[in-house]
Amino acid sequence: MNEQRKVSREVSRVWEVEARPANGPHLRVGQVLPPGNWTEFDPFLMMAEDWFQQGTFDFHPHRGIETVTYVLEGKLKHEDNHGGMGILGPGDVQWMTAGRGLIHSEDPLPGETVHSFQLWVNLPAGEKMTEPRYQDLQSADMPIREENGARIRVFSGTSGGVSAATRNVVPVTFIEIEMDAGATVTQQLPGSYNGFVYVMEGKARIGADETEGNARHVLWLAASGDASDSEVTIRADEPLRALLVAGQPLREPVVAYGPFVMNTKEQILQAYEDYQSGKFGKV
Ligand code: FE
Repeated sequence: MNEQRKVSREVSRVWEVEARPANGPHLRVGQVLPPGNWTEFDPFLMMAEDWFQQGTFDFHPHRGIETVTYVLEGKLKHEDNHGGMGILGPGDVQWMTAGRGLIHSEDPLPGETVHSFQLWVNLPAGEKMTEPRYQDLQSADMPIREENGARIRVFSGTSGGVSAATRNVVPVTFIEIEMDAGATVTQQLPGSYNGFVYVMEGKARIGADETEGNARHVLWLAASGDASDSEVTIRADEPLRALLVAGQPLREPVVAYGPFVMNTKEQILQAYEDYQSGKFGKV
């Protein structure tokens, strides 16, 4: 590792997210990070943008991952089989560590359409069976970095001098960026992180190569080589709303099956056995 070198990240790949009709109360879904790209997206498994109503995500289990839910619109009721219950509103984020397992539902209140993002963060082999926990990050308490026409809400990690209190198993920087046209911001990232920018609204030039990003574009950041430190520069050409997500890759085998993500097929079979024999607890 080259100690002092800092790399200004470029963009290696761009794709557009298409929101497609789903089934019944699941109105639409866009795959921001399509599942199956374990090595490229490491430590992230997938990210979806959903529009849904009551009855879409009824009680289901998880093991071996964290799910991070960011609600943009509507009220989402969350309930699990360990007595946890809460309602997420617009601007709120829930960081759920499923660990060894829980059963939960994610259900819009009656009559509500929820528009949200859900990111799945992988857990390292040694932490997959950790105790489940939740961190509810209320919109009103979210740390904010404000400077030169930019307003950055810090869900996890650090932006400028502003840090979130969110506890990570795998180090992750997750920020939402709002910028005025003409503004420029720079976000620091450890050189080892994999990550991306998702443009929700507006238009920007992203990275050292000033790749154009428009609404619904994912801009995957190029690796920084052997640099220990890096940064990403974002220049807004139009009023911008974007997410930047980056994290420390695990470089471990991934075996994913439905809501369980483990390191081996045997561990997946064990997860089903544990679920079916009631080891995740009762609903
Ligand atoms: Fe879930």
